[in-house]
Amino acid sequence: MLEQNAAERIHRIEDAHTNWYLVEDGAGRGLTIVDTGLPRSWESLRSGLRALGRSPRDVEAVVLTHAHFDHMGFARRAQLDLDVPLWAHTDELSAVSHPWRYDHERSRLPYLRHPEFLKIFTEMTAMGALLVKGSDSARAYGSTDRLDVPGQPQVVFTPGHTHGHCSLLFADRGAVIVGDAFVMLDPYTGREGPCVVAGAATADSAQALRSLDALAGLDATTALTGHGPPWKGSMREGAERARAAGPA
Ligand SMILES: [Zn+2]
Repeated sequence: MLEQNAAERIHRIEDAHTNWYLVEDGAGRGLTIVDTGLPRSWESLRSGLRALGRSPRDVEAVVLTHAHFDHMGFARRAQLDLDVPLWAHTDELSAVSHPWRYDHERSRLPYLRHPEFLKIFTEMTAMGALLVKGSDSARAYGSTDRLDVPGQPQVVFTPGHTHGHCSLLFADRGAVIVGDAFVMLDPYTGREGPCVVAGAATADSAQALRSLDALAGLDATTALTGHGPPWKGSMREGAERARAAGPA
């Protein structure tokens, strides 16, 4: 599913309840892909580019908010087939190499009682989730960098969900891609509205809740999350609601 201009010149693609983004540059440059869904999202990439009147040659870079398997889907393939760099935070590089080997503070087993989890995970599997490949050749960005890729996002360090999780601010458009710093749909519980992701997939919930402070102060009115529809409203309110919802 392609949602054009979920924020200004930022297009949302949703596969198996997982979002990733095509970011256009104002200056007529190419495109940046932020996160890469699941392996079969490659097909969504091709159809999405077609719908935007673009070609795979227009893609200049892939940037990851974090390296969980459902954000790493076609990252390696993009490096190889499109010959573009893959960027991730310095503290995320080991996860980029092993997208299925990540810290989570709670067992995944109790979440099997949530029918929503089973439904979403079945959809992810159909999109190739179990076949995600890591990459040993990602480039590292730092916690305060502004990335020289189309859209020129400002990095906002928001660890907790993973050790090197970052959000990407597009200040000129009042938009921030928050990845899984907070989401509008928790795939593990089916919880809707701003919340942090369940402990089954979060390294440190307390740190994730603290990282909401970094988002609360941003001057933006759209938060584009890793799961669920965009959050429209102030970052302060989005962060407060996620904090009030608490860990799960
Ligand atoms: Zn995640």
